[in-house]
Amino acid sequence: MSEKLIEFRDVSFRYSEEQPWVLKNCSFDIYKNEWVAIIGHNGSGKSTIAKLLNGLLYPQEGQILINGMEVNQDSVWEIRKEVGMVFQNPDNQFVGTTVQDDVAFGMENRGFDRKTMIEKIETNLKAVGMQDYLLTEPHRLSGGQKQRVAIASVLAISPRVMILDEATAMLDPHGRGEIMETVSEVRQRNDLSLITITHDLQEVVQADRVIVMNEGEVWQEAAPREIFEKKEELRSIGLDVPFAAILADELQLAGVPVARKGPL
Ligand code: ADP
Repeated sequence: MSEKLIEFRDVSFRYSEEQPWVLKNCSFDIYKNEWVAIIGHNGSGKSTIAKLLNGLLYPQEGQILINGMEVNQDSVWEIRKEVGMVFQNPDNQFVGTTVQDDVAFGMENRGFDRKTMIEKIETNLKAVGMQDYLLTEPHRLSGGQKQRVAIASVLAISPRVMILDEATAMLDPHGRGEIMETVSEVRQRNDLSLITITHDLQEVVQADRVIVMNEGEVWQEAAPREIFEKKEELRSIGLDVPFAAILADELQLAGVPVARKGPL
């Protein structure tokens, strides 16, 4: 097994003392170059995990380590060089007036020199297939294109881990497929760990491992295929198994040989 990149150690979190705990004693590790999907129904604590990983929130109990460094107020700027985030609504993450300004923004904040910035804008927009849109105003782009620019902006700061928090939720199925493909490609090319947060089981197929959250607790951790085998249990916590997985099982039960290419 390769090196640990992220350690969640007995993490508990609540938004205020008057409110209930939204994460309860959560522990898990994520390794270098691993793709982990975090799934769970709405309100199970997934986005809170993403925010804790980026120092937008801090746990009241337990510890979070990224590459051996504890996430806290002192380390937060270092942490944000290591962890890049892409959120659900592409319109909320644009700050530049053009695509290239937007990709430059995160680098400016982190003190990159101009020459490096120009190189990184080009290479990373190319990596997501958006090299022809350097001077385009972001609001002219489709939802999928916006998310690809957001991914390029994250890649430009060369993080060790990229987190996509429901990043495809506002896209149509075509846009969704394109983003998952882009993510899979750039991850391999950039030697990156990837955390994709979703409530859509269809999106976990390509991940190396799945962490299933339920009511603020880590409910299961396993390879996608093992997770899909627990259909009834998944349903009991409000998750729908993809139709393709059900079909494959039913065909097999009926004696029809099924060639499974991926985890399905
Ligand atoms: P998920 O991403 O799985 O939908 P979240 O992490 O967003 O779950 O939310 C977990 C719980 O925390 C939910 O009960 C939600 O209502 C609550 N919550 C989320 N954000 C806030 C906030 N800013 N203030 C108070 N409660 C919050």
